[in-house]
Amino acid sequence: MSVEQAPVQRADFDQVMVPNYAPAAFIPVRGAGSRVWDQAGRELIDFAGGIAVNVLGHAHPALVGALTEQANKLWHVSNVFTNEPALRLAHKLVDATFADRAFFCNSGAEANEAAFKLARRVAHDRFGPEKHEIIATVNSFHGRTLFTVSVGGQPKYSDGFGPKITGISHVPYNDLEALKAQISDKTCAVVIEPIQGESGVVPADVAYLQGARELCDKHNALLIFDEVQTGVGRTGELFAYMHYGVTPDILSSAKSLGGGFPIGAMLTTEALAKHLTVGTHGTTYGGNPLACAVASAVLDVVNTPEVLAGVKAKHQKFKARLEQIGEKYGLFTQVRGVGLLIGCVLSEAWKGKAKDVFNAAEKEGLMVLQAGPDVVRFAPSLVIDDADIDEGLDRFERAAAKLTQG
Ligand SMILES: *Cc1c(COP(=O)(O)O)cnc(C)c1O
Repeated sequence: MSVEQAPVQRADFDQVMVPNYAPAAFIPVRGAGSRVWDQAGRELIDFAGGIAVNVLGHAHPALVGALTEQANKLWHVSNVFTNEPALRLAHKLVDATFADRAFFCNSGAEANEAAFKLARRVAHDRFGPEKHEIIATVNSFHGRTLFTVSVGGQPKYSDGFGPKITGISHVPYNDLEALKAQISDKTCAVVIEPIQGESGVVPADVAYLQGARELCDKHNALLIFDEVQTGVGRTGELFAYMHYGVTPDILSSAKSLGGGFPIGAMLTTEALAKHLTVGTHGTTYGGNPLACAVASAVLDVVNTPEVLAGVKAKHQKFKARLEQIGEKYGLFTQVRGVGLLIGCVLSEAWKGKAKDVFNAAEKEGLMVLQAGPDVVRFAPSLVIDDADIDEGLDRFERAAAKLTQG
């Protein structure tokens, strides 16, 4: 039975919402695969994927099936009880990764919050209160809670909210010498995004991650990989650490993990996990049966040789055409990234104008993303059809042509 709903439009946002976002002028109402329709029935191709979240596009039958099946059984019991979907999902993640233990939460920020608290707790238990320093990287992004903006390397997100969490320093990304100079026996953890996502799609060098691993081992510090954006098939491997061949002690996941249903996870080893004893950490919704049922279905589909190989093939398709478009219109100088996390670095003439590219693409019926003001980012569904890629890139080329030719 459908209930009559009051009509709403974009203008309502400014009347009833906190103004911390600036959403586009149209309102999406329906999606199927990599196509989205707005209130007016206009169709768009989705290269944004809800910011690297809709890993299997919109309304994927396996995810709709998992969600509706679970919705008819059990929604929520809290962590006073465990539940079958959470245990099944934890088994799948443990079987597929370095980890022996999983902690579930509801977002990337919460997964990182758990990771940072675990690292500090381990150091406190093993070495005492002096060993609490966290080293992060300049321009990194780890979420919007006070701890995660303090660890994040972008002061614009942490300034103006009173005292920050202390004991955190920031070193330039991909600079092993800088990390070497900063790390000490007071360091409890080094946190790195294998590919910096929000600040411009900047992949780490293999030698940097290998060197960070060695430095952490030397100083009894834990290596945390924030894989909130790079995880769950995005790079063509289940997690980016597999692409690099460098294993962290703690890994945070979210975004793609739920394919659009909110869930986060912190993965770690048994030896570390045991420091979060009963009562030391928690969240009411963490491990919610609906979220875990969907995430299990996501993993079943994504963690297959066909889908992961497909990501690598689709990367080549995007990269070749984007390089052509960049050159033809003088719009960008470099196409970088791994798998289906791709960044186009705007040329000198277009520096700072990623929003203009976003707007031009939208006019042609294409959803893209920015990653800072200088980079246009693509994070589409991992199973996007080749026909949708071609059509989307045609639309992108039209946008580039109109933008650059006035
Ligand atoms: C998006 C993101 C986060 C924050 O995730 P939320 O779900 O928005 O809290 C943290 N780290 C990285 C690398 C991200 O890309």
